[in-house]
Amino acid sequence: MDILGLQWENIKQNIQVEYDITDIAFNIWVKPLKYGKCENKVVTILIPNTNGSPEMLKYIEKNYTSCFQSALSDLLQDNYNVKFLLEEDMQTEKSNIVPIVADDSSNAVKKSNLNSKYRFENFIVGPNNNLAHSACLNVAEAPGRDFNNPLFIYGGSGLGKTHLMTAIGHYIIENTNLKVLYVTSEEFTNEVINMFRIKDNASIVKMREKYRNVDVLLIDDIQFIIGKSSTQEEFFHTFNTLYQNGKAIVISSDKHPVHMKELDERFRSRFQNGLLVDIQPPEYETRVAILQKYAENFDYKIPNNIINYIAENIKSNIRELEGAYNQVYAGHAQTLDDAKEILKDTISPDKPAVITPPMILKGISDYYHVDPEDITSKKRNAEIVLPRQIFMYLCREMTDTTLKGVAALLDKKDHSTVLHGYNKVADEIKKDPDFRETIEAIKNKIVSL
Ligand code: ADP
Ligand code: MG
Repeated sequence: MDILGLQWENIKQNIQVEYDITDIAFNIWVKPLKYGKCENKVVTILIPNTNGSPEMLKYIEKNYTSCFQSALSDLLQDNYNVKFLLEEDMQTEKSNIVPIVADDSSNAVKKSNLNSKYRFENFIVGPNNNLAHSACLNVAEAPGRDFNNPLFIYGGSGLGKTHLMTAIGHYIIENTNLKVLYVTSEEFTNEVINMFRIKDNASIVKMREKYRNVDVLLIDDIQFIIGKSSTQEEFFHTFNTLYQNGKAIVISSDKHPVHMKELDERFRSRFQNGLLVDIQPPEYETRVAILQKYAENFDYKIPNNIINYIAENIKSNIRELEGAYNQVYAGHAQTLDDAKEILKDTISPDKPAVITPPMILKGISDYYHVDPEDITSKKRNAEIVLPRQIFMYLCREMTDTTLKGVAALLDKKDHSTVLHGYNKVADEIKKDPDFRETIEAIKNKIVSL
C-alpha cells in the first residue's frame, strides 16, 4: 500500500477539521470515500458501490474536489489533481493498473540490516506519535528533500523510534531501487574503531564506501556517539557527504539536540536545520490499540480485560507493554487473576509508584548530567541554577512536599526562593513549548525510574 492508502483515514479526518465539515455531512459524504490509486499526479478517489450513483458522484465532485485537492497537494508537497470515480467503474478500469513488484527486495532488505518486523502497517498511530509518523511517511515517500532532511526523531526508550525508522527503510526498498542502510550508532562506532585499529587503506576505503554510497542512511540512537571524538568526526564526514549529495538521513536520539549537552555545535546546527519530531509516551487508548495489534502475532488471543489491565498499568514504555503481554501469553493466563499473579513483579497496583524528592533529584541529574549534590548545594553556577529550579517545581508538582519542605531539602531557611523558582519554571513552561517538552521528558524519566 502506498502513503495515501496508509494515511487515508487520517487524511479524511484532517479535511473534516480543516474545512469545518459537520459530522453529519462527513459521515454521509466523506467518510465512505475510499482511496483508489495515485498515478501521474492524479489521485483517484472511489465512491463505494453501496452508496454510489451518478448523482452522488456529481455532488461529491462539486463539493469536495477542491478540499481533497489542496489537502493532498499539501501532504505530497506538489500539485495533485483529484478524480472521483464510482467504485464499480474502477473495477472495469482495473486491468490498466500495473502492480508494483517487489522484485529483488529480499536481498536489499538483507543488505540494509533492517528488522523485518517493524513496518508502517503494524505501527499504531496515536496523538503521542502522529507527527513523527507523518514525518516518517513523508521521508519514505520523498526521501532526501530539503524540508525533511535530515529527519531527527527523539523520545524516550521503547516508544517506537526504531520501529518508525525501520518502517521508512522497508517502504523505500519496496517501492524504489534506492540503497538503504540501517545502523545503530554503536555498530557505527565499532566499525570506526576497527577501521582505525586495522589502519590499512583498503579497510578505510571500504568502510567509507559502505556508508557514503547509500541513498538512505538510518542511524539509530545517535546519543551513543557523543563524546567519542574519532567516531563523531567520521560520522560528520559521512553526514556531510550524504547531505551534500541530496541523500536522505534519518537519525534517532533519546533527546532533542538542544539537550544533548556534549554534542558538537556543528552537529546541533545541522540537525536543527532538518525536520525534528518527538514521540511521547502513548495514552491509554493507544496502548490498548498497540496491544491488540501485537496480539495478531500470536495464535490465540488474550482476553480483552487482561489487555486492558496491562494497558492501564504499564504506561511509559511499549517494549515493557509487549513484555507483559508475552509473560501473560507464556503463562497461559485465562482470567484476570491469573494475569495479575503472573505480572505481580512487573505491576503492583496496590503499591502505586510514589514519586519522592530523591527520585526527582535523580531524574533531573541524569537528564542534565550534573551531580545530584550540586543541585541541592548552594553553588550558583549557571548550569546548576536551572536544574535546581526544576527540582523545586517538580517537587511541588509531583509530590506533596510543602514549600517549606522543599526549602529544607535545599538547606534553605526561607521558602521564598522555592516559590520564586517554582513560578519561574511554571512561567517558562507557558511561554516556551521546547521547555515544556524538556519538563515532560524529565517527568517521564522520573516516573520510569
Ligand atoms: P525505541 O527505539 O524508541 O526505544 P522501539 O521502536 O524499539 O522503541 O519500540 C519498542 C517496541 O514497541 C517495539 O517492539 C515496537 O514494535 C513497539 N512499538 C512502539 N511503538 C509502537 C506503535 N505505535 N505501534 C505498534 N508497536 C509499537
Ligand atoms: Mg530503538
